[in-house]
Amino acid sequence: MSDCIFCKIINGDIPAAKVYEDEHVLAFLDISQVTKGHTLVVPKVHTKDIFELTSDTASHVFRVVPKIANAIKQQLAPVGLNLLNNNGEQAGQTVFHYHVHLIPRYGKGDGFG
Ligand code: 5GP
Ligand code: ZN
Repeated sequence: MSDCIFCKIINGDIPAAKVYEDEHVLAFLDISQVTKGHTLVVPKVHTKDIFELTSDTASHVFRVVPKIANAIKQQLAPVGLNLLNNNGEQAGQTVFHYHVHLIPRYGKGDGFG
């Protein structure tokens, strides 16, 4: 989709700090880090939200989520990690290209929750 910021990142039209890429999925650091290492995992096929997410696309995304979580664990040694996925404006979605947040946790006062 031409006016979608995450499609632009996927197409290389705007830069992002990529942490993982394969044929179907891209992961990159969130521009506004809630905690250190806050990462977004997105399917390359434009998909608005969970209600449009096909099982195949969900499989591609969630096949890599544990890999990326473990890479974050190795590199940053968080004490926990939240997965977050907002669907719809009222649920806090601001970018309408499906994405899963990986938010590493470092204990009390880490800035999230
Ligand atoms: P949502 O609120 O839709 O669940 O999350 C959207 C996320 O995308 C936000 O955390 C926001 O900081 C992030 N974001 C928005 N625009 C950009 C961008 O241009 N680059 C990157 N890396 N992240 C972005
Ligand atoms: Zn898109």
